[in-house]
Amino acid sequence: MRSQTPRDFTGLCRQCLMREDWCLCDRIPRVDTEMHIVIVRHFKEIYKTSNSARLASLALPNSTLLDFGVRGQTMDTSALEGEGVFLLFPTNDGTSGILNMGGEHPEAEEVDASADVAPHAAGTAVVPSKPKTLVVLDGSWRQARRMSRRITELRHLPRVSLLPASDDTERIRKPPHAWTMATLEAIARAVAMFEGDDKGEQLDQLFLDMVQHFRAMRRSLPLERYLEEVEQHASS
Ligand SMILES: [Zn+2]
Repeated sequence: MRSQTPRDFTGLCRQCLMREDWCLCDRIPRVDTEMHIVIVRHFKEIYKTSNSARLASLALPNSTLLDFGVRGQTMDTSALEGEGVFLLFPTNDGTSGILNMGGEHPEAEEVDASADVAPHAAGTAVVPSKPKTLVVLDGSWRQARRMSRRITELRHLPRVSLLPASDDTERIRKPPHAWTMATLEAIARAVAMFEGDDKGEQLDQLFLDMVQHFRAMRRSLPLERYLEEVEQHASS
């Protein structure tokens, strides 16, 4: 599924990029975090209505959204440097500087992108101190992997990874692997892990709202009608 890249913004909310009848802006919470969250977004994501990084950055005052690969623009990488900067990325143990949060992890560098099953780590769990800055890559799995290699500042960052997403999470795009998830969803889990479930839940709720608004919009159904249908379906 590919969303359209709008040529102009007619009929779209300038902030959330949803069509105006499905604008999500009044659903966006303000989630104050101690961690600075830096989202590096692949340029192909910029105008997609299904891009969840846009919403994450709107909900998180202590965040920076950087766009990678925009022609004629040099990305300011200063936020990726300094002490306490971690990269959120599927990873494995066994390499110095890499920290696992426990659970199962694919071997990020060696994994075959077409593989259905990720190779698993031995299961060593090291809980790192809380990052001052958490860098999150936004794009397809291939784009994210490419960015992690292309952007020099990211190559040597210690990494933090999350447990695989549960299958019952509502999503807009089908994840290619069990360990990949939407950017907003990944940020929600990282924020929950480091700063408490309350904050994570607010971001999870935003992600769910986004999925519902997006699905209703694709079917041109008013949101209330769409939610009624979902409810009827669930109770039948
Ligand atoms: Zn909006």
